[in-house]
Amino acid sequence: MPQAVPVKVFNTGFVSDFVQYRQSCPGQSCPGKVRGRRSCGERAGAALVVLCALVAILAGCLPGVIGAAQAQENASQEAGRRRAALDRLPEDAAQRLFGLTASPAPAPGRAIGSYTRGCLAGGVALPPDGANWQVMRPSRNRAWGHPALIEFIQRLAVTAHGAGWPGLLVGDIAQPRGGPMLTGHASHQLGIEADLWLTPMPDRRLSAAERDDMPATNLVAANGDDVDPAAWRSQHRKLLEAAARSPGVARIFVNAAIKRALCREAAGERDREWLRRIRPSWGHNFHFHVRLYCPRGESECQNQPDPGPGDGCAELAWWFTDEAKHPKPGPPRKPLRVADLPPACAALVSR
Ligand SMILES: [Zn+2]
Repeated sequence: MPQAVPVKVFNTGFVSDFVQYRQSCPGQSCPGKVRGRRSCGERAGAALVVLCALVAILAGCLPGVIGAAQAQENASQEAGRRRAALDRLPEDAAQRLFGLTASPAPAPGRAIGSYTRGCLAGGVALPPDGANWQVMRPSRNRAWGHPALIEFIQRLAVTAHGAGWPGLLVGDIAQPRGGPMLTGHASHQLGIEADLWLTPMPDRRLSAAERDDMPATNLVAANGDDVDPAAWRSQHRKLLEAAARSPGVARIFVNAAIKRALCREAAGERDREWLRRIRPSWGHNFHFHVRLYCPRGESECQNQPDPGPGDGCAELAWWFTDEAKHPKPGPPRKPLRVADLPPACAALVSR
């Protein structure tokens, strides 16, 4: 059974800001205005990491409190955030135009721009049900992706099932035409990223209401230093390893405590290359985030540099310092305008 979501994780002021910061930063370059760099905390060396975090805060890495959301929030929480965002955003905000577009742009699949400033033509929807997956939070209409990602999820569902994971509960993928969202997620704009729950799929089909409201499992202990032994299962490692070994995966974001557990479990194993793809981040304690490389041959799509060499386990310590666990909230994130996106994206939304 899924655990109840601890209220303190996202219903209190400071902690809420903290979690929202954690949610936003890994999807963005750090700072948000610099494209193509490694995300926060990925630089080698504590000094650079600290600098990165400070610059991120100053540069507006934090989303606005109103506009941010948690991937696992239920339908009424999401609806409230969405209404507040619509009240707040300017008319030409890209979040508004892409967030209110309910259908895909008919075209061959095409990812345009960068993970945090881009859009998607030719999006296709992941069917709500497959033998080894179920789409969660269907009322959000975010189960759209590039055909390459939709095929990837279907393949991973089979692979993960073969590795002992009951099945995928699929969270947010992208909007029908990608682009920035009204709530949550600095990235997820190209249709080549997906959030997959860390809750095992139940052995029955969930109703639409259950999919919109069922709480997710928090894998991280209350102090943030490690996984919660009551929630962590050996199958979690199998799922994450299967995902990280899958062709086409550029990065997988998990909470730093989860990476710590994976490093511990894989200690002494010779083949640890898969751990390199698994990047520590804030948040990501209820789901993990899969980021694919740009689809082959799509020149309008911008990859980010690969993670540095090594499994990344020795560099984890910073994530458990007070500075990392309690970053100061910064100013609200400035809304993206359509003009901030590649011109081909503006053509996908009508004004
Ligand atoms: Zn995500």
